[in-house]
Formats: sequence, C-alpha cells, structure tokens
Amino acid sequence: MFLLVAVPVPTLDLLTYSVPDGVEVPPIGARVVVPVGARQLTGVVVDHTARSEAAGGKAIKPIRQALDAGPFVPAEVIGLARWTAEHYAAGAGETITAVLPPKTRNARADAHKTRRVAAITAAGLAVRGERLGATPDVHHGLLAIGATMTEKQREVLDRLAGAPAGVPVPELTARGGADTIARLVRNGWLTVRREQVDRDPFEGALVASEPIDLNREPTREQASAVARLTALAGRREFHVALLHGVTGSGKTEIYLQAAATVRASGRSVLMMVPEIALTPVLAALCRQRFGDRVAIQHSGLSDGERHDQWQRIRRGAVDVVVGTRSAVFAPLDRVGLIVVDEEHDASYKQEDSPRYHGRDVAIVRGHRAKALVVLGSATPSLESYHHAMTGKYERITIERRVLDRPMAAVTIVDMRDEYAEAGPDTVLSRALAAAIDVRLTRREQSLLLLNRRGFATSVFCRQCAGTVECPNCSVSLVVHGDGASRRARCHYCNYTARVPPACPLCAAPYLEQAGFGTERVEAEVKRAYPAARVARMDRDAVRRKGALSALLSRFRDGDIDVLVGTQMIAKGHDFPRVTLVGVISADVGLGMADFRAAERTFQLLTQVAGRAGRGERPGEAVIQTLYPDHYSIQLACRQDYPAFYDRELRFRTAMRYPPIVCLVNIVVRGRTFGAAMDDAAGLAERVRRAGADGAFRVLGPAPAPLGKLRGEYRAQFLIKGVNRKRMRDAVRTALALSPDLARRTTVDIDPISVL
Ligand code: ADP
Ligand code: ZN
Repeated sequence: MFLLVAVPVPTLDLLTYSVPDGVEVPPIGARVVVPVGARQLTGVVVDHTARSEAAGGKAIKPIRQALDAGPFVPAEVIGLARWTAEHYAAGAGETITAVLPPKTRNARADAHKTRRVAAITAAGLAVRGERLGATPDVHHGLLAIGATMTEKQREVLDRLAGAPAGVPVPELTARGGADTIARLVRNGWLTVRREQVDRDPFEGALVASEPIDLNREPTREQASAVARLTALAGRREFHVALLHGVTGSGKTEIYLQAAATVRASGRSVLMMVPEIALTPVLAALCRQRFGDRVAIQHSGLSDGERHDQWQRIRRGAVDVVVGTRSAVFAPLDRVGLIVVDEEHDASYKQEDSPRYHGRDVAIVRGHRAKALVVLGSATPSLESYHHAMTGKYERITIERRVLDRPMAAVTIVDMRDEYAEAGPDTVLSRALAAAIDVRLTRREQSLLLLNRRGFATSVFCRQCAGTVECPNCSVSLVVHGDGASRRARCHYCNYTARVPPACPLCAAPYLEQAGFGTERVEAEVKRAYPAARVARMDRDAVRRKGALSALLSRFRDGDIDVLVGTQMIAKGHDFPRVTLVGVISADVGLGMADFRAAERTFQLLTQVAGRAGRGERPGEAVIQTLYPDHYSIQLACRQDYPAFYDRELRFRTAMRYPPIVCLVNIVVRGRTFGAAMDDAAGLAERVRRAGADGAFRVLGPAPAPLGKLRGEYRAQFLIKGVNRKRMRDAVRTALALSPDLARRTTVDIDPISVL
C-alpha cells in the first residue's frame, strides 16, 4: 500500500510514499510529514494506491510521521480538489494550496494582532460644548479654540463623542486625514492607544448593515421562488436552478429563506459572492437569522482569522459559510445548498493556477454532495442561461423589483454631440451634469462609473505621435495624480516613473496627456460642485486594509454625495439612497479584442443602472457613449436580457465561441519574441496533430494581445472544440515531452478572457 501525497508547493506534483511497518495507514485527507529532497514538508494524503510505478522507478521513501488519525481535510473536499486539478490541467501542489488554510505553523498567524484606537478626552468633550458644568475650568480656557475648530476636526470629535470606547484610527483618518488626528492629539482633545484585536472578521460586518425586519412580507414572486427551491432542496438530489431576477428583486431574501429550510433539515449551506466587499453584509444577514453558526472565508482575512474560521468549519461548529471563490473548498460537511450570487461575475475565475471557476467547481461540489445549486443573477452568463434554455438547469425568473419599485429610467447621451458642443475633453455631458445638480439639491446620492483607473490613460508626443510605454510591458503608462504628485505607472507590473518633461523617443518637449480615468472624473466633479462631498472607490483608493469598508460605510451613512468608481461600485451593493447612476464612458470594454466584450458591457451597464432607485425614490441612469447604437448598450438601456441573449448567441454560434464550443487558451512566454513564437508554433503543431481527426481546431499561434508582460514576450494560440477532455489531454501530452517548455506555458481551460 502506497500513499499519494500533495504538498503545498506550487511546482510539485503528487508524490508517492510508503507507510513504515507498524504504522497505521493514514486515511485520505490526513496530514503527513514527508521527505522532499533535503526538506521535510507537511502534505495531505489524496489517495491510496497498490501500485508503485507512480514514482517513476525511483526508490519510494517512507513517510516520516502521520499527523492525523482521521481526515484533516474532508475526503469530499480532497475529491473536489483532484477534480479541479484534472479539469483545469493544474498541478497537485498548487491545487492543495488553494484548499488548505494558511500555514498552520505560521508564527504570524498565532501572534496577537494590535491596532490603534483613538478616544476623546474630557478636554475634547468640553471643546465640543458638552459637560460644561463638569469641567468649568477647562471649558473657559478652551472656548476660544473651540470656535476656530475646523470642519474636519469637528467631524472627528463628533464621531468620537458617540463612542466612549474609542474608534480605530484608520476609520478616523478616512474622515479627517492623518494631520487632523495629529493636531487633535497635540491639542489634548483625543488620545490614541494600542489594543489587542480579536481575530473575529464579523466585527466590521455587523456595523455594515442594519438589521432587517424578519417578518416582512415576501413578494409573490419571492414566495414562489422560495417554494420551488425548497421543493428542489427537499429531494436531496443534485439540481441546478438559475435564479434570474432583475436588480432589486430581492434575491438575497430568497437565498436566506432557502438556506433556513436546508439548515432546518440538518444540512449545511455555502453562499458565494464574487467580491470580498460583498461578504460583510451577507454574513451579517446570515448571523441575524442563523446566530453564530456562520463563518466567513476569503483571502482578505488575516492568516489568523482565516485559520480560525477554517477550523471552526472543520470542527462542525458552523453550518453556513459565506465567502468568495475559495470558499468553494470550505471543509463543510453535509452540504445541502450552494448559492452562487452574481454568478456571471468574472471574479469567480482565478487568474493564477489553478485557474478554476468558482461557480463551475461549485456545481461539481453540488453534484458530488447531491445538493441544490442556486445560481443567481440579473444578467446571467451566456453559459448558464444557455444551460437553462436547453433544460439542463431549471430557470426561475423574477421580473419585478420588490414593492413594485420601477426600474431606473435610462437615458443614452451621444458624446459626439457633446464633443461638438463643448470640445473633445468633456467629461460630464450636459444631461449628466444637470442630473447631478438635481441630486445635490435634493440631498440624494449619485454613483459615477468609469471602468478605468488613474488621471490620464496615456502620455503622447505631438511631434512623433509616440506614447510613453512601460519598459517591461507592451502598454502605455497611466498618469496618476495631478500637479506635483503626478506619476506615470504601469497597471500590469507596477513600474513607476516621473512623467518625463520631453518625449523619450524624439526628445521634443510637446508631451500631452490623453484619455481620462477615475481620478480625473473625481477632480472634474469636485471642480464643478465645490460644495459636494465627493469620493473615489477604485483599487488605488482601497489599497489599505479597512479602507474599502470605511468607504462603503461612509457612503451608506450618507456622508458622501457623489461616489466615483470603477466596476467595484457596480457590484451587488444595495444603497437605498442612490437615485442617479452616471456611466462616464460605456465604451471602455467594447474596444477590447475579446469575444466577451459585448457581454461584459451589457452586464456592467445593466448592473450599474440597477444600483439606482432601490429605495423609496425612483432612479435614473445616464449612459455616455460614442456608440449609442451598439446592441449591448441599447439592450442594457431597455434592460432586455432575453433579446441580448438571442443576439449574442447568434454571434457566438457564427464565430464558434462558448457556450457553443469549449475553449482552451495557451500562452507561451519567451525571452525574445522569436523564441516565444517558435515554441508556441512547435507546441501548437503537436496539439494540432492530436486533433487531426477533427475533434478540435487550433487557431494560431499569434502574438498575444499583451505581447510583452513583465519583461517576457508572449505568443498565444486557442483550441476550440466540444470534447474538453481530448483538448486537455492533447496539451498535457504535448507538454509532458518538455518540462522546460511546460514551465513557460500557461494553460487556461474555459478562459474568461483571451487577452
Ligand atoms: P437583488 O440582489 O435582487 O438586486 P436585494 O436582495 O439586494 O436585491 O434586495 C433589494 C432590496 O429590497 C434590499 O434592500 C432588501 O432588503 C429589500 N427587500 C427584499 N425583499 C423585500 C420584501 N419582501 N419587502 C421589502 N423589501 C424587501
Ligand atoms: Zn509594466
């Protein structure tokens, strides 16, 4: 009897070991310490085998130690991991890494975490005008200073006055800035101390959402969806239901009610969302309903938190898990329901090996566990809707918003007219500017979407027409900041440089900035509405831990009038006070040479328009574009998903793209462009020969759209066919001949993008 062991080292495949005499054979899922070269590593047993040739003729070494008598990772999850490795042509090492909690013996994970907390002092309270009687002396001396207090200082003190135990410093700096805090400390109005933090990721979650009325009446459509899902779950068989409900139709409530029934029947629930930022609200709702047998799993937690949550799930202390794609591997037992919310979202796809799709692995897990899988979306992926139309999935449709709230009224603005009127540098059209104005007067909130970060998207030379490019990647550098803080940065490798004073190619001093991103929109809005409270939400603005949740809660509390952001603002959030959504440019995604460009655009526009009018007041959306007649824009404006599906499916059928065929994307990297192309051509030829009977087709190789990345050149080819296994096996066989080439090759099965 031999053991097949996966060790969490990305480059290592399954290793074979023997079990010394007298040692009980560790079961599948148990941890074992094994010798790997000169090292001792902790791995997981994924299989037992009677045959020894798996070791390839080398002498088989015995394991050093068995750490568990039972499975540490449930056998079901091990099986799922093996399926994932196989399906996505990934290695055992990288797949087991995705499944295990962060390093068990990581010192950092066990060390106590601390954070800085600020609290208001008696003097601070006096300055605010409170406790006048209690501290008359202080009060007299400070009144004059109180009168000259800045708006920001007052805001910070106001926040602290309501929190005698103090408030974490990052939350305050998000309001007032670090120098405001420093000033307040110098004045003696607040103190800052360090305190130990509990590794409970729910801390932030509970303040993020107000409790909802548990007794509110479900709408008729909600009730019938719940009834149907409950009936399906009750069969204890594998089923996939596509819950296609317009934005604001109350899908969350449906998930929660279905989850309640499944829990009551003694089974557990896995709820997946595409973004970390969406977990706190959903987790808080689950806690409100189900008490503390709820855990969170996502990569934004600290190692310690993640580890603690993982162990709770494994111990069976939990029967609801809320998380992002990696939660699909949660060590949860007796799964009866898996919810994949916003199933169309590209974030479910992991962009490093194993390049798995969280939704697709969830379906496989549901199949193995005989569970009900619910895919929810207002804009389903073409794949899922296709399965629903062909009867593979059951479709449940919700056509109305809760309480019959109207969908947002959408206006399309042709930016060619605006450019003719106000010049080609226009950011806000007249219609959008007027609509923002109305919101500011009515004290309602606006969201402005631009799916492009930075201030200017490129710097180009008016003499030679060259652009300033990244030295490592074939893209232009993006300008961040304005004035003195201006820098040029690569969005792929993070290379950063000063914006040069003259053209690096022809030395002419005629450099100009072109294109604009979220930073520029933020600046324009601030300039146009000096009294408005404007903030920005994009990857740059939320880099610091805690910044995103601080921003979200400020917006939710009504402390921001206009929020400018990338697609982050379009996702799944429920902000009842938003009545206007402006899309600064609907065209950002349309120009991309990707077969999903139209689908992505339709989804993004429909989703972002769906953020408006979710409360009592009706919403409006203004979409700025240079292609007002494009079908993805027209149909998003009418919120007509079925028409979009028909139109897009015709395109995919004609061009032979998913969901009509399966796709595999192969990228070969090389030190020179020629080397990459030669290697790709050789590999493509071998794969092509394996499919000579017509089982699949190979297109390419060609230079990848991103021809150079982080200093490496990239060549690409695509495989299209209907038999995914044959396609994958052909690639694996071809790569097995050349381990060196395999290391420079990326194999992406069911790619979400071919850029
Ligand atoms: P979706 O995910 O379908 O876009 P949500 O689940 O976010 O929609 O629900 C939209 C809003 O409607 C939320 O604020 C939610 O609390 C509220 N809601 C859901 N169901 C009901 C109901 N039956 N009655 C009143 N409000 C509801
Ligand atoms: Zn770069």
